[in-house]
Amino acid sequence: MTRVDFHMHTTHSDGSYTPTELIRYCKVKGLGCVSVTDHDTISSFDEADEAAKDLGIELIPGVEISAQFEPGTLHILGFFMDRHQPKLKTVFEEIQKARRERNPQIIQKLNALGIDISMKDVIEEAYANTEGMADKQIGRPHFAKVLLKKGVIKTLEEAFDRYLGKGQPAYVDKRRVTSEEAINLINQAGGIASVAHPKQMKLAPDLLEKEIGKLVDQGLGGIEVYNSCQRPYENTIYQRIAKRFNLVQTGGSDFHGANKPDVDLGFLGDDVSLGYDMVEALRERIAKRSGRL
Ligand code: AMP
Ligand code: FE
Ligand code: FE
Ligand code: ZN
Repeated sequence: MTRVDFHMHTTHSDGSYTPTELIRYCKVKGLGCVSVTDHDTISSFDEADEAAKDLGIELIPGVEISAQFEPGTLHILGFFMDRHQPKLKTVFEEIQKARRERNPQIIQKLNALGIDISMKDVIEEAYANTEGMADKQIGRPHFAKVLLKKGVIKTLEEAFDRYLGKGQPAYVDKRRVTSEEAINLINQAGGIASVAHPKQMKLAPDLLEKEIGKLVDQGLGGIEVYNSCQRPYENTIYQRIAKRFNLVQTGGSDFHGANKPDVDLGFLGDDVSLGYDMVEALRERIAKRSGRL
């Protein structure tokens, strides 16, 4: 069986593996078809694709877009987009700019809390293992790693729980697109949108179903039933929602390398393994849609 993993990050966002290293590790893990889903960028595709071709792995263009949402987190995965579509490029550039403006504000807040940390520390951390990359995306996991190295906290999780997480004293929100914008962006580039790790929306099942229904009206085509952060009893809830709205059931590990050390590549949850059927279901959905247009 061709094993698949449709959720993973590289040094182009907040993963610790370069695109080449990540694809090589996909090979080690026996994955046959994968999608690299960096946050708000597809810039790792060319490098990853070269490595994938060398190793006989099929690489599907992917992305994970952060959307506006309260009270939890709403990330929309996109697969199969034409990555040269101009609108996609423009919006991703705008999001990266907003991120660059946000980072010094996080430093200010940490400093105000008496923590000795500078933007230089975070930049050095973020650029580790990125040889020659011009525009590195810097995010909270890099702040967390600096705090860990400085001994301010003992685990990366603690950095979020005490300082960087939503509602914590060093949290700064960033510009996010609406879910509708994210889904349209993906659909207009010929892709299919799947809601990432629905668990992180932090809603009870009935409310979750309602919210997913709204996303379906906006053009959502899939739901990430399987993700390393979700347990089997939760998967059954997401499967039910998928059936109710006729969504493609996707799955991925959300591998970040050393930036999320307890999640290994290819791990989609206890005893979960997805095959090529998932890829065919996504393709079929896109084909059906374009037939209708
Ligand atoms: P940012 O894009 O800068 O807002 O950072 C978001 C990233 O931080 C996510 O993709 C996760 O990798 C990581 N993250 C967010 N919340 C947590 C948490 N509570 N524990 C560990 N990592 C987290
Ligand atoms: Fe991440
Ligand atoms: Fe995510
Ligand atoms: Zn992710």
